[in-house]
Amino acid sequence: MSQEERPPSWQQRSQDVDQAMQEWRRTHPQATLAEIERAVDEQMNQLRARMIEEVAHTSPPEQAAGQRQPVKCPQCGNRMQGRGKRQRRLQTQGGQEVTLTREYQSCPQCGYSFFPPR
Ligand SMILES: [Zn+2]
Repeated sequence: MSQEERPPSWQQRSQDVDQAMQEWRRTHPQATLAEIERAVDEQMNQLRARMIEEVAHTSPPEQAAGQRQPVKCPQCGNRMQGRGKRQRRLQTQGGQEVTLTREYQSCPQCGYSFFPPR
């Protein structure tokens, strides 16, 4: 990933949340504390989901190097083959959706297939 393709910094994102909340407050001047809390939660859950996605996609350097090594089948020990990247959709505790991209691996010997956890 080059510098230009980097996602917005977390500082920028928290500023965006702050701005979104100020805007929300302007349009909800009569909001109760509970309503404010829900609106803040909604913003924070979105931010949280993006952070989970990004952290999950960030591999430590030693792990990135390890991914170039052939993956062994946990069933028969044969060499696994990459079947291309697949997307997994997961729900976070905040009810937001997180999409993870993983190289799907399958074994030509016994047919076992799995998504590596990282
Ligand atoms: Zn196998």
